[in-house]
Amino acid sequence: MLTVNAIAAPSATEPLVRTTVERRDVGPADVLIEIAYAGICHSDIHTVRAEWGQVPYPLTVGHEIVGHVTEIGSEVTRYAVGDRVGVGCMVNSCRECENCKAGQEQYCLAGNTGTYAAVDRDGTITQGGYSTHIVVDQDFVLRVPESIPVEKAAPLLCAGITTYSPLAHWNAGPGKRVAVVGMGGLGHMAVKIAAAMGADVTVLSQTLGKKEDGLAFGAGDYHATSDPATFEKLKNSFDLIINTVSAPIDMRAYLGLLRLDGTLVSVGAPPEPLPVQVFTLFNNRRSFAGSSIGGIAETQEMLDFCAERGIAPEVEIIDAEAVNEAYERVLKSDVRYRFVIDIDSLRK
Ligand code: NAP
Ligand code: ZN
Ligand code: ZN
Repeated sequence: MLTVNAIAAPSATEPLVRTTVERRDVGPADVLIEIAYAGICHSDIHTVRAEWGQVPYPLTVGHEIVGHVTEIGSEVTRYAVGDRVGVGCMVNSCRECENCKAGQEQYCLAGNTGTYAAVDRDGTITQGGYSTHIVVDQDFVLRVPESIPVEKAAPLLCAGITTYSPLAHWNAGPGKRVAVVGMGGLGHMAVKIAAAMGADVTVLSQTLGKKEDGLAFGAGDYHATSDPATFEKLKNSFDLIINTVSAPIDMRAYLGLLRLDGTLVSVGAPPEPLPVQVFTLFNNRRSFAGSSIGGIAETQEMLDFCAERGIAPEVEIIDAEAVNEAYERVLKSDVRYRFVIDIDSLRK
């Protein structure tokens, strides 16, 4: 067992604090990763504040992890010491169900093993990436191409794959009109990736405050959702809408923006329901869908796609001490566009 420095939430209402977590001994199929950077996803905040349900405190969150391999188990063939690697939102799955066999481990019928707050195969509770090291089965480790700057790579492991997967599945590409709702961590990656896929991208943000950035990320158009005229102007416009908002939004208004056979995919995960009137779906034969992260092979495909296209998240690097302040800023939509913890600050 390895005891490593970490930051953890003691409860739903207290700030995160410095602590240590235990990592299991490196098993035959495991790699030990020294973490360099960990991104802050809004899901970390929903989780530690118990907005999605009960939480096993104290809990270390973080599922956007990048670092390098420092030790490998006796049967590890995919990675060597020194390799630059990443870990995302899951660290295991049953590997036998039809979804796992189809490479969609995120939809494992037995439930995938989350990177944090899940019961691991040894019965312990998984602890996430706001820590100096992690031990992970090689099959759930990703190769992070060297051309992606290491301090920017971590958010790809959740924000990147969570937006790449529905964009690829619903065929974002040339001739497709794609809207991205909310331009935070996930949203800004959705804009960059959809633009790189060749789609016509529109940002729907609460205000026009980030318009210049949105256009620089590849959007062709940008509208404020605080202006009711936006919903009139853009009625029946989009083939695909990716909703990344962490709070409930008026589904009727957004579904009304879909053209014939259009789909609104929610990746945003507010704790509250998103009610939908079926008549809103009858018009234009619209679909309302959800999507959860992406499979391991698809995550590698996304990393390679981003490396080839020179796509990387916009990050603000912080020390571990600044995490609580960063959480408050995320909650105020004051994030440009992902906070990333420099894990060196935890080694002291
Ligand atoms: P984030 O950085 O906080 O971005 C969310 C954005 O939504 C904000 O920047 C803001 O954009 C907009 N927004 C926030 N509150 C709003 C409100 N009340 N009304 C309208 N717009 C609002 O969060 P994130 O890390 O990108 O995560 C977004 C959501 O996706 C979270 O719920 C998270 O849990 C979920 N998530 C899901 C998956 C999955 O697998 N499906 C994976 C990761 C995360 P503007 O300032 O542009 O309006
Ligand atoms: Zn996440
Ligand atoms: Zn499975």
